Amino acid sequence: MTATLLQGDTLASEIKTGLKKEIEQLKAKGSPPHLVAVQVGENPASRVYVRQQQKSCEEIGIEYELKELPDSTTQDELLDFIETLNQDGAVTGIILMMPLPQDIDARQVQIKISPDKDVEGMHPANMGRLVYGEMGLTPCTARAAVELLKASGVELKGKEVVIVGHSEIVGKPLALMLLASQMESPTLAVCHIATKDLSFHTKRADILFVAVGKPGLIQADMVKDGVIVIDVGINRVSVTDENGNPVLNEKGKPKKKTVGDVDFEGIKDKASFITPVPGGVGPMTTTMLLYNTVESAKKGAARR
Ligand code: NAP
Repeated sequence: MTATLLQGDTLASEIKTGLKKEIEQLKAKGSPPHLVAVQVGENPASRVYVRQQQKSCEEIGIEYELKELPDSTTQDELLDFIETLNQDGAVTGIILMMPLPQDIDARQVQIKISPDKDVEGMHPANMGRLVYGEMGLTPCTARAAVELLKASGVELKGKEVVIVGHSEIVGKPLALMLLASQMESPTLAVCHIATKDLSFHTKRADILFVAVGKPGLIQADMVKDGVIVIDVGINRVSVTDENGNPVLNEKGKPKKKTVGDVDFEGIKDKASFITPVPGGVGPMTTTMLLYNTVESAKKGAARR
């Protein structure tokens, strides 16, 4: 068996086409989506994300604004700033760029964002809704993984699903999303660092989600034939030649590539569907941020 690739790029562009139409309608109603990213201090990594977000938003007609606050901003000042954005009717979505300076409690700031403008889906109120099976503003990566699974067309009902990794942003919300339907839900196991025998669980999986951040964690002998694999992991590893020696780039530095958490080459011949890395969950995560931004703008428009 050679697995069908669940391409994030393809699904993302379909979703974005639909979002563009909704954005035009919102603009015609005088309620354009307007996403504000808040960054405190300088951070090269978050600069890269800001550029990506800005490009993705502008591509489909979402107004994107970066508010940069100095490194010296206190927690109270940041909370006040978030409150002004909450009160501003023209701002429909707020995103907090990480990391924040060390003396700021990121959780407290995240909680301050109005749940209706929480396009990252991380506010406890939005997380809590998942317990009741409500798919409102949901954490983007977990939602991306679910949407990619849906693209396989496979019914969840009665399936054995295993999630490896139980972080707040991926594994936990993902588990809740999969259990959202009373009638269609799979049977679920969630594995983590304290799981004694990981392969005991992964071998039973009809559908396997992996969100850990360890390249090669899941090998071909740990899965069964026909498994569906959604690989959330993103890892930068050195490229090696056939003798295992590092390959150098034109600057004489070790050449790097991006891989997921599963041994893609080993597993692709056993799986029925698999997400590539890069090009799987990654592009869908950004798209779910755009989706949430449009959802929050629609909610804002409905309240007016
Ligand atoms: P995280 O917060 O570090 O969580 C990793 C999870 O893996 C934790 O629950 C940890 O368990 C568990 N874990 C660690 N070692 C394990 C092992 N040997 N066996 C089983 N479970 C193990 O990471 P995250 O933010 O969820 O991200 C996970 C991966 O997804 C990373 O590679 C990240 O780069 C990637 N990611 C991708 C996207 C995307 O758009 N594709 C977005 C976000 C994140 P404990 O908590 O018990 O230690």
